[in-house]
Amino acid sequence: MTDTDTIFGKIIRREIPATIVYEDEDVLGFKDIAPQAPVHVLFIPKNEVIPTLDDLTPEQGALVGKLVVAAAAYAREQGLHKDGYRVVMNCREHAGQTVFHIHLHLLAGAPLGRFGTP
Ligand code: 5GP
Repeated sequence: MTDTDTIFGKIIRREIPATIVYEDEDVLGFKDIAPQAPVHVLFIPKNEVIPTLDDLTPEQGALVGKLVVAAAAYAREQGLHKDGYRVVMNCREHAGQTVFHIHLHLLAGAPLGRFGTP
């Protein structure tokens, strides 16, 4: 496992608590500490430190697919697929990225507002 300085690295290494709801070889999923929807889970790569989507190389592209596949599997397992859900990845300031270890937000559990306007 690669070391990382972010709070998510500490969660991966179990140095700080988190409510982990999903784990496989490459991906960890845990509840967001400040949920923006009734269900708000973050999916992160466990073995690679990639600060932002802008740092992603073509060779690392499959990893983002794994985050999406993990989120979709979790959503289906939880029955969230019936009413639907949203996945979001924020990149840098204008998107409001605050943790520089790429992550995918899964938001669900209620109708979600529109997004993208300043
Ligand atoms: P970003 O804004 O970078 O796209 O998303 C970072 C997310 O990480 C935020 O939604 C924030 O609430 C969440 N977060 C920050 N620190 C912690 C933490 O220590 N534990 C958990 N579970 N989530 C965190």
